[in-house]
Amino acid sequence: MNTLKHTKLVKRNWLSKKAFEIELVRPSDFEFIPGQNIRFVYGDIERYYSIISSPDEPTIELCIRFVQEGVFCAVLADADPGFEFQFTGPHGYFTYKSSKRPPVFIATGTGIAPFVSMARSGITHFTLLHGVSCTEDLYYQSFFRKTSRFIPCISEFISKDGDISDIYYGRVTDFIVNELPRIEYDFYLCGRGEMVRDVTLLADELFPGSFVYNEVFF
Ligand SMILES: Cc1cc2nc3c(=O)[nH]c(=O)nc-3n(C[C@H](O)[C@H](O)[C@H](O)COP(=O)(O)OP(=O)(O)OC[C@H]3O[C@@H](n4cnc5c(N)ncnc54)[C@H](O)[C@@H]3O)c2cc1C
Repeated sequence: MNTLKHTKLVKRNWLSKKAFEIELVRPSDFEFIPGQNIRFVYGDIERYYSIISSPDEPTIELCIRFVQEGVFCAVLADADPGFEFQFTGPHGYFTYKSSKRPPVFIATGTGIAPFVSMARSGITHFTLLHGVSCTEDLYYQSFFRKTSRFIPCISEFISKDGDISDIYYGRVTDFIVNELPRIEYDFYLCGRGEMVRDVTLLADELFPGSFVYNEVFF
């Protein structure tokens, strides 16, 4: 898994001003489980990204936040098709474990990436809370509205465009405290470390008997 693999950029697709998808050539010996990630090795730089494609698809797809002054996301945002990258992987243990408890997936920003791979691989019947600052960042809402119970949580700005009828105005933590019935769940948390910490504390306090799995991006 730590052997360097070679790949090339196939194409890039901007989802919003702050996020884009990239598609990479999938090496013939590269297998993974939905929820796992790869680590790019680029000179001295090493960065991890969760895979959004399913193991049945021919390429590897990623969803990347364009962070202002970010070093490596700028490389990914500028590279031309055919550009060669190296990576290791698959890495990580943030994979779906079936149980009798209902799964609640909770993502902030591009933390939705592993859940895209899980849903594209056929996992259904989950509740997904996606916490973003503005409606423009609900990149996968039409996909998730078809496959699951999708709850967009907007903390700052709601645009009048698109489907805003079911938007929850507040953070994912506000939804959990105010709206989520008090039973046992399997919580899957991905994205900002602060969210992962806050939801883990809430799970302990308000949902005893629940399990919590997490992946911290930053
Ligand atoms: C296991 C794992 C999986 C990850 N998967 C993804 C993924 O699927 N998509 C993705 O966009 N990122 C992902 N990340 C974060 C990614 O590895 C990089 O940290 C990120 O792209 C910034 O790298 P950079 O070199 O561009 O910026 P840097 O110069 O390293 O950092 C710039 C700033 O960006 C902040 N930052 C880092 N990631 C984010 C983010 N996602 N949103 C907002 N601010 C951020 C950092 O706190 C830092 O202050 C993952 C991280 C880990 C550990």
